[in-house]
Amino acid sequence: MSIAENIRTVTQRLEGTGCRLIAVTKTKPAAMLLEAYQAGCKTFGENRVQEMVEKYEQLPKDIDWHLIGHLQTNKVKYMAPFVRLVHSVDSFKLLQEIDRQAAKNSRVIECLLQIYIAREETKFGLSFDEARELLAAPETAGLAHVRIVGLMGMATFTDDREQIRAEFRSLKQFFDSLKKGSLPANAEMRELSMGMSGDYDIAVQEGSTLVRVGSSIFGSRQ
Ligand SMILES: *Cc1c(COP(=O)(O)O)cnc(C)c1O
Repeated sequence: MSIAENIRTVTQRLEGTGCRLIAVTKTKPAAMLLEAYQAGCKTFGENRVQEMVEKYEQLPKDIDWHLIGHLQTNKVKYMAPFVRLVHSVDSFKLLQEIDRQAAKNSRVIECLLQIYIAREETKFGLSFDEARELLAAPETAGLAHVRIVGLMGMATFTDDREQIRAEFRSLKQFFDSLKKGSLPANAEMRELSMGMSGDYDIAVQEGSTLVRVGSSIFGSRQ
């Protein structure tokens, strides 16, 4: 199947759900991204800043670039001029640096708080309590150049689809509870980024608004 056909398959599955596709292009050459772009996909997710910057420089400028992987504060400055959405904010320190670099570029950068929902040691993210604390902190409300627009989570890497469903469901419940509660002026709960190639069908059923799909479109990675 071609990249264009794979994109069509995924977007057909998302039709009518209100959920949008982020094509995850990490490790893939710019030529493949261009193929996806020509098939109408203009939202790409990368997990490394340097790779995203290199591709940004090579490709058309109407692409929305999403940073989906773990982010170090010293890398924020390289992507601050153009990044559309950062999915992986997992500390106040990181949020503060994004704010600082966004200010330098006269921008407001949209961010998601990454929440730890998996039963794995290796994944990054805030606990529910840590996320609540971050949202309630006066320091957060003072950041004028970031906007927290929702949450991101990754389910455990497992064949147990009921476990995956339960993890996504717990994140959606947390998302809904935050939405009902009081949030600082620079935060709102409108995006819920959950679901990848192996589990995005479940994520959509559980209320995802953004799925991050790589290998189902571009083939497996080395
Ligand atoms: C690589 C990656 C994806 C996409 O994974 P696939 O299984 O290839 O769809 C989604 N989210 C994050 C955070 C990733 O690093």
